[in-house]
Amino acid sequence: MTDLDPPARPPATTRFAPSPNGGLHLGHAWSAIMAQDLAHAAGGRFLLRIEDIDGTRSRPELADVFRRDLEWLGLEWDEVAPQSTRTARYDAAAEQLRALGLLYPCRCSRAEIAAAATRSGPDGLVYPGTCRRAQIDPQREEVAWRIDMARALQLTGPLRWTDALAGDQQARPEAAGDVILVRKDRDTPASYHLAATLDDADDGVTLVTRGMDLFEASHIHRLLQTLLQLPVPIWHHHPLLIDSDGRKLAKRRNAPTLADRREAGEDGRALAEDLRTGRLPAGLSLGSAVESDPCR
Ligand code: GLU
Repeated sequence: MTDLDPPARPPATTRFAPSPNGGLHLGHAWSAIMAQDLAHAAGGRFLLRIEDIDGTRSRPELADVFRRDLEWLGLEWDEVAPQSTRTARYDAAAEQLRALGLLYPCRCSRAEIAAAATRSGPDGLVYPGTCRRAQIDPQREEVAWRIDMARALQLTGPLRWTDALAGDQQARPEAAGDVILVRKDRDTPASYHLAATLDDADDGVTLVTRGMDLFEASHIHRLLQTLLQLPVPIWHHHPLLIDSDGRKLAKRRNAPTLADRREAGEDGRALAEDLRTGRLPAGLSLGSAVESDPCR
């Protein structure tokens, strides 16, 4: 296996990939505007992908609200297939990794992991490896599938990736441990890591733009790209919009949505221009608050 470096294509195709489990807020607007402007400046394409893989949390009606929000901001995009239509692809990739001997079934509950874990990583508690060598029949029990990170790294050797802002990176997916790639919950077949990595490759994304809160995830995605023989993009992890408490804007903390602003009669194009030129609404600034992201 070889480390595909430098990236196979020029950095021209970007995407905005919201999860329809809550309304978009200013942080999303900032991310979408940046992704569009970077693509268009390079003469490339800006894609919208609805990440509706989470069957229990996704609210299908929100996809249309998102489209209206982006239109209101004056953005132009090409929409690609939502994640819910791509499950056969995720299953096939998981099968490929199983065939390489890199996935193992795990029956542990969250509570069991919390009791046994000894450290935290960028993806939450690092899995203590309880099921790594256990005899488990996946036909008879509900299991998640985890990647055997040490084995995977033996196969790929050291990998590097490039962030347009932070520069050259040595991939260190081992910091996250044996993350889940196929979830136990049948309503959500693939994990964020597996789905997003495959989708970006299939959609021809060459510049993965997203917030710095997902920087650590890219170490894992870089590994999956080599294991699954996918092209390697460049990443652009942008600073986050943070509130006066130093926390990133979040749906779960009731940040006002773009739809609320739109319905209140605010001018979306003017707002987009303000964000582009750094005129941020009162109380907000750009920063690097690092918290785990709800989409994982
Ligand atoms: N769907 C994720 C979210 O809404 C974004 C994932 C990504 O940009 O890679 O937070």
